[in-house]
Amino acid sequence: MTDSATPAASDLATLIETVQRNERTLRSFQSVELQLIGARDWSTFLDGVLVRLRTVFALASVSLWVDEREPLLRELLEIDAPHEAAAACLKAGRGHGAALARLCGAQAALAHCWLGPASELDAATRDTFIDARAHKGSAIVLPLCAHDAVLGYLCLASGDPHRYEASMATDLLERFANVAALSLDNVAHREHLRLIGITDRLTGLSNRHYFDERLHHDVYRAAHHAEPISCLFIDIDHFKQINDAHGHTVGDQALAAIGVALRQHVRVGDTISRYGGEEFVALLQCDMPDALNVAERIRRAVQSIVVHSEDGACLELSVSIGVSAYRAHRAHRADSAATNRDDAASTAQTLLDAADRAMYQAKLEGRNRVSTLDMHA
Ligand code: GH3
Ligand code: MG
Ligand code: MG
Repeated sequence: MTDSATPAASDLATLIETVQRNERTLRSFQSVELQLIGARDWSTFLDGVLVRLRTVFALASVSLWVDEREPLLRELLEIDAPHEAAAACLKAGRGHGAALARLCGAQAALAHCWLGPASELDAATRDTFIDARAHKGSAIVLPLCAHDAVLGYLCLASGDPHRYEASMATDLLERFANVAALSLDNVAHREHLRLIGITDRLTGLSNRHYFDERLHHDVYRAAHHAEPISCLFIDIDHFKQINDAHGHTVGDQALAAIGVALRQHVRVGDTISRYGGEEFVALLQCDMPDALNVAERIRRAVQSIVVHSEDGACLELSVSIGVSAYRAHRAHRADSAATNRDDAASTAQTLLDAADRAMYQAKLEGRNRVSTLDMHA
């Protein structure tokens, strides 16, 4: 009998193999965990948990349910996912959460993972969280608990019916879920701080700092792709009189109501910001005729806003709007002024100045109107 055939030697070989496999698994988890711990934004977190985890462990699907009742998590859900694949794996909604809470527990102190054949899940939960390729396979649902709250659930699914069985050890997966939960909490706080930094508190619109960055970025992009871009400069008429006559609180209510109306009139991808006290700016992905239409709709919408003063009178609100537009010519795109960053910055400034000057013209012409000037005049 050779050494390798003795029972002790074969036990040792199996043991070594198990240790090596565990070490490989641990290292794979660590590579994903490092991405999550280092994630400074929602997009990197989602990529780690929904894409990297699936690839590293060759899973059929990974889905994440996030509790939208938590205000910071709701803010995350409002941020665009990095790509469609991540968006499809990201779930919210109370009904889905309730089903997972029934499996794993809704209280952080008592929450535990659930694992077993996907066929044991109710049809709605299976269809929502598990890719069709794994409907005959197995799955594990991990609660993500941090600071005494269940922030969400992570569902990993495999086409292999024996991959997740109730008898298997889950300590590595549970440790991973702890890291994922703390990283999710961290990312939610980071994104919240970022949003506070770019948001005007009174109107909920983005602020001037954000607008200036978007202006440069969007003008550069528009120039590069020879697409049109327009700017609206919107100033409330005789706003000082409204404050003087009715007080600052009523003035604030009017500002907030105008903010709501402005948001309703721009499309997804456009930017609307509070630029200063009673001044707003919008950046639209369209040419001058369309921008004039949007401006006119905004002007009319503001005129019909109903805000009451403390004595019950209805305020008369109106805005003056200046419009400017820019489009690089496709034929000259390569050497067009705004296709390099410095020139884009100067074109952006020219675009904003032209809208501002047009707004002053609207004031001079009698207010409550839309005006435009030649951008290079
Ligand atoms: P015009 O039609 O020429 O634009 O007149 P106006 O009164 O709107 O312009 P002016 O620049 O003289 O006054 C702007 C007013 O906006 C003065 C300021 O008190 C008010 N304002 C600026 N920010 C706020 C704010 O956050 N809340 C309130 N209630 N008022 C504000
Ligand atoms: Mg003003
Ligand atoms: Mg004003």
